[in-house]
Amino acid sequence: MRVCRFGEGRLGLVEGQSVRDVTAALDVLPSYRYPLPGHDPLVAHLALVRARIEAIGPQAPVLPLSEVTLLSPVANPGKIIAAPVNYQKHLDEVKSDSQIHAGNPAHTITIQQAGVFLKATSSLVGPGEGIVVRKPDRRTDHEVELAFVIGRTASNVSRSEALGYVAGYAIGLDVTIRGSEDRSLRKSPDSYTVLGPWLVTADEVPDPGSLDLEISVNGERRQQSNTKYLILGVAELVELASSFYTLHPGDVVLTGTPEGVSPIGPGDRIVATIARIGTMEVEVR
Ligand code: MN
Repeated sequence: MRVCRFGEGRLGLVEGQSVRDVTAALDVLPSYRYPLPGHDPLVAHLALVRARIEAIGPQAPVLPLSEVTLLSPVANPGKIIAAPVNYQKHLDEVKSDSQIHAGNPAHTITIQQAGVFLKATSSLVGPGEGIVVRKPDRRTDHEVELAFVIGRTASNVSRSEALGYVAGYAIGLDVTIRGSEDRSLRKSPDSYTVLGPWLVTADEVPDPGSLDLEISVNGERRQQSNTKYLILGVAELVELASSFYTLHPGDVVLTGTPEGVSPIGPGDRIVATIARIGTMEVEVR
């Protein structure tokens, strides 16, 4: 199932080039009082919501996908985890290009040495909202990445069990200011995490370790790879991250970017595609 969020907080079921407005399925979610849960309610109750979507979908209004503004499929992740230098050829380009590593020693070590890092949840947008360049005087790059969303509470999960904790997959853009500061700062301005175009439930992606991914800017292809080249795959990232902290439903993990990162600026149009997930268009302002 492909589940999107669009417009003013509406829920959609994606079918080809159409989307069914199944917002009424959100009625199965519990109503909350303060303090709110530390997870994303939609993802935490995805099985319930999914059953409701299947029940009401056939009668739900149909809209052309091209006419809706796509939001992040996860509205309230507790954390956004990201993997640095997780493709060998990207690590090689970081090491060899001073405009990318910017003299930052943190950029020339392996992911096994670096571990993962966190991005601010306030950086999260959907493709329809676009990227707003925060520091126009600084080099700002696209990074296309397979993203996955945690479906149930995970702590100290082994890699052999890990895929059972994944609710689904999406395309992630880890927009990055190059420079000397900590990654969590340079990658966390508003709109610097794009997630979309929808959540593809895990049952539709039996092997996340064999997906073609690519990104183009203004029609020119900049990055093209396959997730088989990930140094730490989805299962290994769940094992690593859950060994340090508990993962909660709705937590988003960006798996890292392949080689070919390059600058973007206002006016650019990004198109990113990952096999079995889809394609999303993102404007840069
Ligand atoms: Mn990245």
